[in-house]
Amino acid sequence: MDGAPIRPGGAVCPDAGGAGDREGPRDECGVFGLYAPGHEVSRLSYFALYALQHRGQESAGIAAADRGGHIITRRELGLVNQVFSENDLRTLAGELAIAHVRYSTTGSNAWENSQPVQRSQGTGGSLREIALGHNGNLINAVELHAELVEQGVTFSSTSDSEIAAALIAAHPADQLEDAIAEVLPKLKGAFSIVVMGRDRVVAFRDPQGLRPLSIGALDPVRPGEPVRYCVASESCAFDIIGAHHLREVEPGEIVTLDERGLTSRQVPTAARRAFCVFEYIYFARPDSRMNGQVLQVARAKMGEILWREKPVDADLVIAVPDSGNAAARGLARAAGIPQDDGFVKNRYVARTFIQPGQELRKHGLRLKFNPLPEVIAGKRLIVVDDSIVRGNTTRQIVTMLREAGAAEVHLRITAPPIKHPCHYGIDMSTREEMIAHGREVEQIAAELGCDSLYYLSLEGVYEAVGGGRETHCDACFSGDYPLIGTQDAGGKFALEQTLPLVRA
Ligand code: SF4
Repeated sequence: MDGAPIRPGGAVCPDAGGAGDREGPRDECGVFGLYAPGHEVSRLSYFALYALQHRGQESAGIAAADRGGHIITRRELGLVNQVFSENDLRTLAGELAIAHVRYSTTGSNAWENSQPVQRSQGTGGSLREIALGHNGNLINAVELHAELVEQGVTFSSTSDSEIAAALIAAHPADQLEDAIAEVLPKLKGAFSIVVMGRDRVVAFRDPQGLRPLSIGALDPVRPGEPVRYCVASESCAFDIIGAHHLREVEPGEIVTLDERGLTSRQVPTAARRAFCVFEYIYFARPDSRMNGQVLQVARAKMGEILWREKPVDADLVIAVPDSGNAAARGLARAAGIPQDDGFVKNRYVARTFIQPGQELRKHGLRLKFNPLPEVIAGKRLIVVDDSIVRGNTTRQIVTMLREAGAAEVHLRITAPPIKHPCHYGIDMSTREEMIAHGREVEQIAAELGCDSLYYLSLEGVYEAVGGGRETHCDACFSGDYPLIGTQDAGGKFALEQTLPLVRA
């Protein structure tokens, strides 16, 4: 992935690209929720967040409660292992919990915008107390915010997630899932949301299913106890806590996890499915399963198809680690060309890394990727990466490979050219900043300084992931936005432009 870093906080991010600037698209957020009396819910949430860390490294939070008790939330800026102590997990002991890791797609990286968001409405017997975690982006956030402010609702953050929380908390329906069913049609955009009340966890997904959300089952700790259920952005969160992946939450589905087990209802919708195809290409972890695909396998297939679509005479296949690894293996297998590590990657370059300064700036990328001349020198290389956004990192990679003695550099990318911004929860560069905007592939290759460049076709992507355009979003490649009214309404700071940040 061209971008530096692609995901903030590269200390634990396997795919982060550069050395501290903010070039590429960034992941959105990761959510988790479970109802599990008899289990250590805060500890399970902590480890689930650990597995989801690649989806957001700006902040982390867990909200927990005993059935019928008050909700306690701990949230803070930082990585999961920086935010929670053993003592925090003891304080968060309970029977149900939700959890969240965040990258700011709406609102700035401030503590106020960390999640879960907690809201209360009413008093005594009519008190509704909820905590909410959101992955996605509400494209009508500014309108909803204005409407609610007009009604006298106050906010303590500038994130769109608090808008959803305010609407749900204020709804008069007795049952939390009834309130959500009424509120869901008001929300426009991409959302996979977990909400906890005092006795249940409810999870729901936007009617187009833009962002992922899956259901898992936890085996009982002791014989005779019931199976408990959990939900997570990606199935890799289930693996780490010993849960089994059951299925995905359907677009427009509301699932309730409570003492009855797992119940579900479907909100009627005419919207077509539009799952983000970029999740398969890059965002999700390779060991996650989505729509029946293990992503490691789908990415290897992308590499095979890349070779079929554009073979080239070469001596060696290398990946831009780690996001290009699976596709490089697939391409090398299909081509019958040896594959090796052309770079050693430093995994400990964090977002807060001290900047290299003028003297070291030209070596900046070497903080992350150090090429191996002994492997590369004199070879005609096929270099596999998942995508190119602005091109700055890719240009530096090509330069480093040439300096290390590469005879030829042939770039192969497992995504089509990115030409359009995302309005559904992925923070990308502006259209003008994208290297593919207004340029032909040959011009891009010349700008990057490589001998040849080929992007996987959209048909090739769909062949690898086993789906079609009719059920996916590929707007950042094609410009075909599946939701109407998606003009960028002020970008991620739209609410801050509307209302200055109010400290809680
Ligand atoms: S525009 Fe691109 S990144 Fe955004 S949801 Fe669609 S496919 Fe995913």
